[in-house]
Amino acid sequence: MQKMGGSTQIGRVFGIPIKVHITLWILLPLIGLHFATALGTRSLLWGLLAAAGLFASVALHELGHSVVALAKGCRVREILLLPIGGMAQMDRMPSRPRDELQIAVAGPLVSFVLALAGGLLGGFATTLGWRALGTTLMVLGGINLMLALFNLLPSFPMDGGRVFRAWMTPRLGRLEATRRAAKVGRIMAVIFGVFGLFNGNLILVAIAIFIYMAAGAEYRTVRIQEAMNQHQFGPWAPLAQSWPDEREVLVGPAPYEKGHASSIFARPVRMQHDLFEELFRDWKW
Ligand code: ZN
Repeated sequence: MQKMGGSTQIGRVFGIPIKVHITLWILLPLIGLHFATALGTRSLLWGLLAAAGLFASVALHELGHSVVALAKGCRVREILLLPIGGMAQMDRMPSRPRDELQIAVAGPLVSFVLALAGGLLGGFATTLGWRALGTTLMVLGGINLMLALFNLLPSFPMDGGRVFRAWMTPRLGRLEATRRAAKVGRIMAVIFGVFGLFNGNLILVAIAIFIYMAAGAEYRTVRIQEAMNQHQFGPWAPLAQSWPDEREVLVGPAPYEKGHASSIFARPVRMQHDLFEELFRDWKW
């Protein structure tokens, strides 16, 4: 996942460009409709607000990783929001296990805080009689809880997998730790994939494919780096020194519909509008 075309920058936080991929712009109205249905409201506006809140939550999760990474001297190129989640693209990820662990944990920590805030503020809004706002905030709180927990599963190269690798590195060395973490990551990806297929959750299937490929890719990168390091003083030294900085991505997948037996693709969405009813009647995914 080197360079992704077709994204637009929506802002800049701590000097980090926040970008939204074109596929997310296309899917956003559908996700909004899905939320509107799930919230039991007739207003598409609340659905869209919830969808925006979801991706703001994902962006904040990635910012959590990024702020700690910046403090560790890494460079964060950008945060990219995709339908499968967010990515903070970093240069010079630290190879010190302690640093990696702290960067990996920061994202889920932000999500836990947002979950708590969503629950509390949602409850408060509901007691004031602002039901739509209360429900939306509580749903967003729940999503953030899912986001934190899902990311902490040991599915390398996602957060929990990075924690797992950082934990093993002092004992096994970086290469062997990465090999084992990637292996567990791939097993987890297969489990997600099968689960997603059986439940018709195509987003989860897409996440599973991404994790499977990214786990293998990152293991290969570490293998090459280790090989290069061994040749630092030999005939390959010039090549080893010119090897570009490690480029890694942290992924926070789309948290919506986790644990639910369906996704926006799998279920005929009940529309309030005749136009949409016409458009989606023949959708069979
Ligand atoms: Zn994360």
